[in-house]
Amino acid sequence: MLSLFYHRIYTDGLSPNASFPRDRYRLLEKRLKDQPNIDLLRPRRAEKEEITSVHDSEYVNDFLKGTLSEKAIRRIGLRPWTSEIVERTLRVTGGSLQATEHALKNRTIAGNMAGGTHHAYRDFGSGYCIFNDVAICALAALQRPEVNRVLSLDLDVHQGDGTASILSDEQRVFTCSIHSKSNFPFRKQTSDLDVPLDDEIGDEAYLEYLDETLNEIQPENFDLILFQAGVDSLRSDALGKLALSREGLQTRNQRVFQYHKNHGIPLVIFMGGGYAKPIHDSIDAFEDLFTAAAEYASQPL
Ligand SMILES: [Zn+2]
Repeated sequence: MLSLFYHRIYTDGLSPNASFPRDRYRLLEKRLKDQPNIDLLRPRRAEKEEITSVHDSEYVNDFLKGTLSEKAIRRIGLRPWTSEIVERTLRVTGGSLQATEHALKNRTIAGNMAGGTHHAYRDFGSGYCIFNDVAICALAALQRPEVNRVLSLDLDVHQGDGTASILSDEQRVFTCSIHSKSNFPFRKQTSDLDVPLDDEIGDEAYLEYLDETLNEIQPENFDLILFQAGVDSLRSDALGKLALSREGLQTRNQRVFQYHKNHGIPLVIFMGGGYAKPIHDSIDAFEDLFTAAAEYASQPL
């Protein structure tokens, strides 16, 4: 059974007039809610202290009080903001934290049907990302006695720049990002391992890079994998520049899940980007992702 955190505020907390495709959560929930091996769970709110373990407290306070500058809001996007943006952000972050707790406690795969907000930096948000849930979950996990090393595996088409920046001095987290070289963010950060890809790369070349990457990080002794599983590397994505097929992404997911299984390492899925036009291609790819995860979650490590 896959524990997957979801709240209707994931959609409803964003304005219907925002350029961000807010309906993707609602549409995906419809596809997944009757699957027998997926348990949709309501996320808690993240605590302020959990967020300030990673983020600058002035930034966090300004966001929570609604006093961020217009410039700071513009950098994040998701505009026009709703009165529920705070509640939404706390639930999304809480869902990621709970998925992490669940994966570690049960030594399995768990997921959040949102999050992977990897463009958020310590003291500002960017690119649809307010708080960096990947970094927050990494540090929360490291507080547990059984967790000494964490792998952040970011396969969203955009570089995990915020994650790399926040965790640059954290030796216990290995950050790896495979992304489009020419895409946003235009000023890249340095992950522990970056794999920048040329435009229009398709399944075969992509999967070769992925295999090489997974082989390279194999010797590391990880206790947890944080998998940013964005599907915006899909050919039909409006914000990606790569050319993966639905089948290519399915294989990508299988390789990551097999790595988790072969090495016996709990894994958390953060949904990440997906902006196909029409959105249904992204929904298909996310459905594939969570359906495959549910199969692996049913087989204990
Ligand atoms: Zn992305």
